[in-house]
Amino acid sequence: MSAFSKVVVAATQHRLVTKTVTETTPGRAVAERFVAGDDLDAAAGVAADLNRRGLAVSLDLLGEEVHDRASALSAADRYVDSIDRIGSDGIAGNISIKLTQLGLSFDRGLAAESLDRLAARAGEIGSTVSVDMEASEFTDATVDLYEAAQRVHGNLGLCVQAYLHRTPEDLERLIPLGGHIRLCKGAYLEPASIAFQTDDDVDAAFARLLELLMLADGVTPAIATHDTRLIDLTLKLADRRSGPWEMQMLYGVRPGLQSELVDAGNPVRIYVPFGSEWYAYLTRRLAERPANLTFFVRALMGRR
Ligand SMILES: Cc1cc2nc3c(=O)[nH]c(=O)nc-3n(C[C@H](O)[C@H](O)[C@H](O)COP(=O)(O)OP(=O)(O)OC[C@H]3O[C@@H](n4cnc5c(N)ncnc54)[C@H](O)[C@@H]3O)c2cc1C
Repeated sequence: MSAFSKVVVAATQHRLVTKTVTETTPGRAVAERFVAGDDLDAAAGVAADLNRRGLAVSLDLLGEEVHDRASALSAADRYVDSIDRIGSDGIAGNISIKLTQLGLSFDRGLAAESLDRLAARAGEIGSTVSVDMEASEFTDATVDLYEAAQRVHGNLGLCVQAYLHRTPEDLERLIPLGGHIRLCKGAYLEPASIAFQTDDDVDAAFARLLELLMLADGVTPAIATHDTRLIDLTLKLADRRSGPWEMQMLYGVRPGLQSELVDAGNPVRIYVPFGSEWYAYLTRRLAERPANLTFFVRALMGRR
C-alpha cells in the first residue's frame, strides 16, 4: 500500500470523515459507483445485467468484523438468501464472503459452522463459495477454515494476497486442495515485517504468483486486478493453459476494460458488493486511487 493510501486509510477512520461520507448525498453518490445497491434485489438486477453482457458475478454482502453472535448468524442467513436467489434467478455467479462477518473474530467455531452451511447450500444449486482474505491477524484462521470446508465440500475458493511474504508457502498448501484461488495485490495496511511495501515489490510478487498459479493443474486461477500490465501477462500465460481460469474485477472499477476483456472472449467475473454496510469497503476503494478522492471532493462541492 502506497504512502498516499496509508494517509487516506488513516483519514477515513476519523469520525468526522465517516459521518461526512455516510450521511451526505455526495458521500452516498461516490458509494453508488462501487456498490450495487442496498439490498439483494438491487444486486440481482446488476448481476442479471452483467450476465447479459457475458460477465459472471460474485455477490458480496457488505459488512465485516461482526462482534456478536446474532449479527453473525443474520449475515449467514442473508448469504443463504443470496445463494437461493442465484439459484432461482439462474444467475451465473457465486457468493464471496468474509469470515469476520460470520463471527471469526470472536467465535471461530461459529464461523466454521456457517461456512459449512453456505458451502452445502451452494453445492445444492451447483454453485461455489469464495472466501475473501482480510487483514493479516485473520490469515491463519482463514486458511485453516477454508481447508477444512474445502476438504468436505470441494466447491470453495480462497483469496490470497501478493503483498504478504507468506503467500508462496500458503499456495503450496492450497493448490493441492483444488478450488478457485483468487490472486489479488492486497488491500489492508500491513507492516514491513510481513508484507511488501512498495508498488514495485508488490507487482513483482504478483507476477511470480500469477505464473505459479497459471501453470498449476487442478486449481482455477482467478486473477483479480485492474492493472493492465498484469492483465497482459495473464493473457499471455492463459495461451499456454489448458485448464479453467478467469479474470476478476470490481464492480465500478474500469468498466470499459471489463467489457473489452469479455468481448475478446476471456472469462471475466465481476465482484458485486451490495448492502448498507459499505463504508469500510469504500475507504479501501478510495485509498487505491487519488482520482476517486477528487471525485468525492467535487461531489461535496456540488460539481459531480
Ligand atoms: C475481484 C477482486 C476481489 C478482491 N478481493 C480482495 C480480498 O479478498 N482481499 C484483499 O485484501 N483485497 C482484495 N481485492 C483488492 C485488491 O487487493 C486491490 O486492492 C485492488 O484490486 C486494487 O489493485 P489492482 O490490482 O487493481 O492494482 P492497482 O495498481 O491498485 O490499480 C491498477 C489500475 O486499476 C485502476 N484502479 C484500481 N483500483 C481502482 C479504484 N478503486 N478506483 C478506480 N480505479 C482503480 C487504476 O486505473 C489503477 O491505475 C480484490 C480485488 C478484486 C479485483
